[in-house]
Amino acid sequence: MMPSPSTLLLHPDYAEDREPDPATPGRAIAPPIARSTIHTLDGPGADALVTGQGLRGADVYGRFGTATTREAAKLIARLEHGEAALLTSSGMAAITTTLTTLIPVGGRLACADVVYGGTDSVIATDLAARGIHTSRFDACDPAQLEALLREQPFDLVWCESIGNPLLQVARVRELAAACRAAGVPLGVDATFAGGMAQHPLELGATVVVHSATKYLNGHSDVIAGAIVSDDATIDRCFATMCHTGCCIDPQAAWLLARGLRTLPLRWDRQVRSASLLAARLAEHPAVARVHHPSLAPDAMRAAPLSSAGAVLAFELVDPDLAAADRLLARLRLCTHATSLGGIETLICLPARTSHASLDPQLRRSRGISDTLLRSSVGIEDPEDLWADLARALADASLQVDDSAR
Ligand code: PLP
Repeated sequence: MMPSPSTLLLHPDYAEDREPDPATPGRAIAPPIARSTIHTLDGPGADALVTGQGLRGADVYGRFGTATTREAAKLIARLEHGEAALLTSSGMAAITTTLTTLIPVGGRLACADVVYGGTDSVIATDLAARGIHTSRFDACDPAQLEALLREQPFDLVWCESIGNPLLQVARVRELAAACRAAGVPLGVDATFAGGMAQHPLELGATVVVHSATKYLNGHSDVIAGAIVSDDATIDRCFATMCHTGCCIDPQAAWLLARGLRTLPLRWDRQVRSASLLAARLAEHPAVARVHHPSLAPDAMRAAPLSSAGAVLAFELVDPDLAAADRLLARLRLCTHATSLGGIETLICLPARTSHASLDPQLRRSRGISDTLLRSSVGIEDPEDLWADLARALADASLQVDDSAR
């Protein structure tokens, strides 16, 4: 039986019938950090260097990886049920490495219409400069992708498991089936699924990326990215990573592995709190609309998504930007900051942060209003979080009577 993530992340090599390793008596429980950037060339690394084969797993030079970065990559590969994983210096590096490796110059990308603003920027600048043409589709409506794939050939299809910032749930299983039928790889940015709510590779995706900065690390003290796929695809991405040099630092990989060990605990608590807050916000008279997968159980079943994630978004009844700003200024526990996935509760306006680089007209046309508030729910007591939100919402200037809804 495959151990659950809580066991696997602590004991990645566990197997019921595994004999204790006689070579490592007195083994350190917290692993050391392998910082050396160079290794003597009289070991197995020499062959890897000469043949170019096996460089990804060999101790040769720090840019290709160290024991620490490989160990953290192994944990993430296991978590996402992939053959192999590659760690990068950031989530953006994981995205750019994957897109530029899998789409040739002059190629075609089909991308979900609402994705992280940084991904939109790469599409509009770096990919466009390489002559790559991008078509968009609604990831909640697989028929749109099927129609696109019938019209023209694509090199890659891209979506997010749970979209940033509107939390729409992509129908990954059906998107993967459409891609398989058309012979096109599917890449999924599963950052918002946290390695816990969905394993896109099991649903037929080709490659999964994470901003490991978020849930996988979970403590808002590391910038990192991860790419998970089959060995051949990871080898191709590794070659790009060696050229661009966007490797992860061993210290960051060590912190990432440390954070990963408590991921299942953090995730359960954060998802439960986010679902509670989403339900209460949906009932609040000053709130016009709440976005959270827990409020869309049919979409969760169709994806499929086993838990709702811990980011929610909402809009106030008062459409004035000043009202959203007043709310932000009155919160004392929910911290006004960008990013997500850490243990502390954050809140921000995506129009000013994650999606600030988008043209405002385009942003609004994709449903991201200037006043949309996005909150990443942390591990604080949910009743304290609700008290903070309710206090801020109850401010007379935010409060409206029911007839205004
Ligand atoms: N993917 C998603 C869905 C994100 O929300 C972000 C950042 O917010 C990224 C990728 C980029 O990650 P990083 O900031 O680690 O480069």
